[in-house]
Amino acid sequence: MHRGTLCLTFDFDAISLWISRNMITPTPVSRGEFGAFAIPRLLNLLETRGISSTWFIPGHTIETYPSLCREVVAAGHEVALHGYAHENAGTLSEAEERDMFRRAYDLIGELTGAPPRGNRTPAWDLTAHTLAILEELQVDYDSSLMSTDYTPFYARTGDEIPGDGPTRFGRATNLVEIPVSWSLDDYPHFEYLRGVLPGFRAVEDVYHNWLLDLQYMVRDFDRGVAVVTFHPQAIGRGHRLIGLEEWLDAVGEFPLTYARLDAVARGFRSGEALGMYDPPQGSHR
Ligand SMILES: [Zn+2]
Repeated sequence: MHRGTLCLTFDFDAISLWISRNMITPTPVSRGEFGAFAIPRLLNLLETRGISSTWFIPGHTIETYPSLCREVVAAGHEVALHGYAHENAGTLSEAEERDMFRRAYDLIGELTGAPPRGNRTPAWDLTAHTLAILEELQVDYDSSLMSTDYTPFYARTGDEIPGDGPTRFGRATNLVEIPVSWSLDDYPHFEYLRGVLPGFRAVEDVYHNWLLDLQYMVRDFDRGVAVVTFHPQAIGRGHRLIGLEEWLDAVGEFPLTYARLDAVARGFRSGEALGMYDPPQGSHR
């Protein structure tokens, strides 16, 4: 029985992540390089398991590691937008943001032979203009917001949030939002960043939490969609990869299928009811 969908997504930030943090001395750059070094082991794992996934790749990574990015495409994975140099929201004017999107959009088109269908903003932070720019580019979906957990929806833009009154919601866009969460992201759990992230969580803690999220989804939601986010420079370490393999073994016991986000967005757009709350009788003890 197909009860839900699991989407594995990979943010191949490489060096661009460290550019966005103004950390371009040799050692942080080398942390980004490790992400590139770990690509073959990730592609091998996905191929062995027969999993199609979605890769959000900044334009900077496409230009710095063109052959690795071609390998991702050749292996059947989707490539979608993730900024040019992992730009932080709010550091660009509207015109600069539009130019940045156009540059990244063209690089993906050249890499894959087709325009990108989706976007994930770096650090999951949007500006007031981001969704309108994505609509102009006729992108199908975004995967950066957190309003739901298992339920895609049409993203909204133009909210007004006065401090002294209720929020006035803006209009629904034509963009399918496929929701994410920091808790379902490898980076904050595993990676150490002095003074910012403690990292180094035990793999069994993290993967156990993720298994419970999936267990809850298949129990209480009909056709839920779960999105897990990986960063090659974080997940590529040995203990985390062995943990990932064991997690995938456990996930195999659930009635889930794997899908790329472009396929999820296409299904939602065609009217599929995804992520409907449908708890069995007596599921709450
Ligand atoms: Zn990123």
